[in-house]
Amino acid sequence: MGKDNIQDQTIPENPDIEKVDRRQFIKNTGIAGGVAGLGALFAGRKDLSAETAKKTAVKTHDRMPIEVSADYKQMDQRKTVFTRARLEPAMMKHGRKFFGPKTPTDKPGWTQIDIALADAGWSVHNAFSSKSAAGVPNTDAYAWEGPVNSLKYKFKDKKDAAQIIKRAAKLFGASLVGVAPYESRWVYDPIFDMTKNKTYTDKDFPFKPKSVIVMAIEMEYSNFTTAPALIASAGASTIYSQMAVSGYQVATFIRQLGYKAFGAGNDVALSIPFAVSAGLGEMGRNGLLVTYEYGPRVRLCKVFTELELEIDKPKTFGVVDFCKSCKRCAEQCPSKAIPMDDEPTFEGKTISNNKGVKKWFIDPEKCFKFWGENLGDCGTCISSCPYNKPDFWHHKMITAMTSLPGSSLHATMTQMDKMFGYGNTYDEKAIKNWWKND
Ligand code: SF4
Ligand code: SF4
Repeated sequence: MGKDNIQDQTIPENPDIEKVDRRQFIKNTGIAGGVAGLGALFAGRKDLSAETAKKTAVKTHDRMPIEVSADYKQMDQRKTVFTRARLEPAMMKHGRKFFGPKTPTDKPGWTQIDIALADAGWSVHNAFSSKSAAGVPNTDAYAWEGPVNSLKYKFKDKKDAAQIIKRAAKLFGASLVGVAPYESRWVYDPIFDMTKNKTYTDKDFPFKPKSVIVMAIEMEYSNFTTAPALIASAGASTIYSQMAVSGYQVATFIRQLGYKAFGAGNDVALSIPFAVSAGLGEMGRNGLLVTYEYGPRVRLCKVFTELELEIDKPKTFGVVDFCKSCKRCAEQCPSKAIPMDDEPTFEGKTISNNKGVKKWFIDPEKCFKFWGENLGDCGTCISSCPYNKPDFWHHKMITAMTSLPGSSLHATMTQMDKMFGYGNTYDEKAIKNWWKND
């Protein structure tokens, strides 16, 4: 991959965002009414702690808060873009650029140190869960079988079991953890091992899973301020390595307690529906899980087990409604892979879109083509999302507000997000700062 390709690539220009005085901004832009409305919302709520704000915004549901149509079928893993990138000539040329060796450039963010950083991030994943990120199942850390203690630990009940497994999962690296019921509809059919050209179904599992432990692992915010530079890619690859460690340790812990279990990364099943079912977040316009705590700036892994655990309820906090008017990720996406439509639909545009679930379907072909040009994954749909901010100064307001009907406040908050300089993409200063900061 040559230098010219990188320099020629289409990256949306970084909006020229001035440092804005917030009080002056509110006065000048006529959104004072919106802010006053928010003030009224919080009148008498001086006690509005982070926990109170979360309680105000988050709603629990007895059923999955995603509409699934009657003609929904399990996803054939051979249709995923990673498998197609290995098997389909038209996609393989992009796959060679993405998976192949990279030639350093002089462009900040794509130099030898940036490439080395992203590669080092992958190293534990590559050594320990080879190709699971591309969907290869049943490898190394994510092997379906492993030694199970013949001494079975007796939990008091399902609640006790869930508490103990979740506590251990946090120790092993999970930022968030939830438990979903096992549902075969989210498992690939067939599951496909591209390295052996072999297919499986969940009947090939060595046991019938009853619970799925879903872990979301936070990726570092500062890395994603550089997206789509390879420092952002390193933020993701580092967590792919952590996923293998966390998935393996949680599965090993359960096996040591006398129950069968195995971990999975991107392989075996769709992670997002299990994560939504486990109450970890909602699916956003960008096709990613949007969590309350970190927005879409997480990676997911799951552990399937025969152990019966107390199941978590799905939770929403207004993401889908907010996405209808936000569209920041779609505007900033370098490949225009994210739709601008106001409403989600049941059908996508490529064979890599599995129809039958109401959502915004991103175009994985356009996205993956950009990854090839970019020499690594991109992350712009994470960095541009207002929910991704750790120091989201209006986080309390926005999360409480998104539980209210009406899009005018949502639009106001999106504008404020832009004006305050969040959601920048391709910021050379962020790249330089990343290497300077300890
Ligand atoms: S990762 Fe893909 S979908 Fe997301 S912004 Fe980049 S090109 Fe677009
Ligand atoms: S950037 Fe906006 S539209 Fe995109 S996922 Fe985040 S909240 Fe939704």
